[in-house]
Amino acid sequence: MNTLHQAYDPETFRQQGHELVNLLADYLQQVQQNKSSIPAIKWKTPSQSLNFWRTHLEKDDNMDWIAIFKAFLENSVHVHHPQYMGHQISPPVPIAALAGFLGDFLNNGMGVYEMGMASTTVEKMVVDMVAKQMKMGQEAGGILTSGGTLGNLTALLCARSVKVGENIWKEGGGNKLALMVSEQAHYCVDRAVRIMGWGEGGIIKIPCNEQFQIRTDLLPEYFESAQKEGRQVIAVVGSACSTSTGAFDDLEAIASFCQKNNLWFHVDGAHGAATAFSRKYNFLVKGIDQADSLVMDFHKMLLTPSITTALVFRRKKDSFKTFAQRAQYLWSQEENQEWFNLAKRTFECTKLMLSLKVYAILKTYGLELWEEFVTKVLDIGITFGELIRQKPNFELATNPECNIVCFRYVPEIESSLEKLNALNDHIRQSLLEDGAFYIVKTNLNGKLWLRCTFTSPFSEQEDLIELLNRVELLGKEYFERVLEY
Ligand SMILES: *Cc1c(COP(=O)(O)O)cnc(C)c1O
Repeated sequence: MNTLHQAYDPETFRQQGHELVNLLADYLQQVQQNKSSIPAIKWKTPSQSLNFWRTHLEKDDNMDWIAIFKAFLENSVHVHHPQYMGHQISPPVPIAALAGFLGDFLNNGMGVYEMGMASTTVEKMVVDMVAKQMKMGQEAGGILTSGGTLGNLTALLCARSVKVGENIWKEGGGNKLALMVSEQAHYCVDRAVRIMGWGEGGIIKIPCNEQFQIRTDLLPEYFESAQKEGRQVIAVVGSACSTSTGAFDDLEAIASFCQKNNLWFHVDGAHGAATAFSRKYNFLVKGIDQADSLVMDFHKMLLTPSITTALVFRRKKDSFKTFAQRAQYLWSQEENQEWFNLAKRTFECTKLMLSLKVYAILKTYGLELWEEFVTKVLDIGITFGELIRQKPNFELATNPECNIVCFRYVPEIESSLEKLNALNDHIRQSLLEDGAFYIVKTNLNGKLWLRCTFTSPFSEQEDLIELLNRVELLGKEYFERVLEY
């Protein structure tokens, strides 16, 4: 058999597939039943990692492909681990990961209808389901995009076409346009503005209150002064929630400001729009139904693999204005608002069969799975906040509203900002190198905070307590060894 035939051999594939699933099922069992036997992360420095993989590539192991999979499993972050509490990413439910595998295998391109008939049709149904859950009305609809970053850019391009007119797409310009957003917004909003050519003055950052929510009382003042400077403000972006601290902006207040001033209201709900699926926590996104457009990542809070994002428009006809551009070889009737020719409305030409992963969950478990998961991880965030409040020498950045919590260790003895930052930086680095827990850090107004996002369905109160005890121990050790007060 030549290599090409060997690579497509059905029997080899059958064996590989079975062995891979066995490997992953064992991993899933291990993190649930014997978590201390496997770290959340096995830390390597970049140069250690490079050495490891170079050696791995050179090793002559006679086509031992399962060794490839094992090496990746071992050297990746274990997002299903109860002590994975790091960046916002879902531990995919197995059925959604399998659907992703199916999509990779079928590899339909999605740009035009017949190159993805099933997943294009299901994409429409999935986005309609999201629009319904957000109560956005009968006219709502949209698309799936490869990530929230691209979703936000696409939404803002649409806002520009609707508010300024489609000529801007033809002729360029628009460097006097602007939008307003919280200073805590995700950096991709800033990038989108600069990609559109509005420059630094095109992003007007509104200060936050002490809970890191946008100060909506300042919107009129900033709006007026932008106008005086000759800027045409066309949109306000609400964060639901902000990435660093998990703060939810007051969407109702932003909506009414936008309505009054004829502005586009976009909600960046990449992380937190998913709270609409929890009866207990959907109050956090009150007002989201009034958004002109919204973005929600399934891969952050709704248990699909990366990256699967819903971009929903309040009036689906708006979405056809985003790219008012001809590509005649793709479709014949440019002006028709065909929901089934996705490339008319998406940035991507070829794109993954994204809807498959969502549909597999929806069809198998229904909305109930998301209800349970979202409620559980938000409960954990709130509980963690309570545990921190009860513990001496710990400080919270904000009152946790969801599953993102920022905190730090503060020894009794008075200490400078720099020393406290160094102390908490050391704690985080020690945790990383130890690997039992994976948490991250963030900087808020010059202060370094330890940051957790709870996304493992297997995290329990004992994990929270163990983490705090470790942080305390590391803090005390460092304090005694290194700091001279
Ligand atoms: C994660 C995040 C993004 C970016 O989304 P990707 O899917 O990672 O591209 C944008 N905004 C917010 C608020 C986020 O939390």
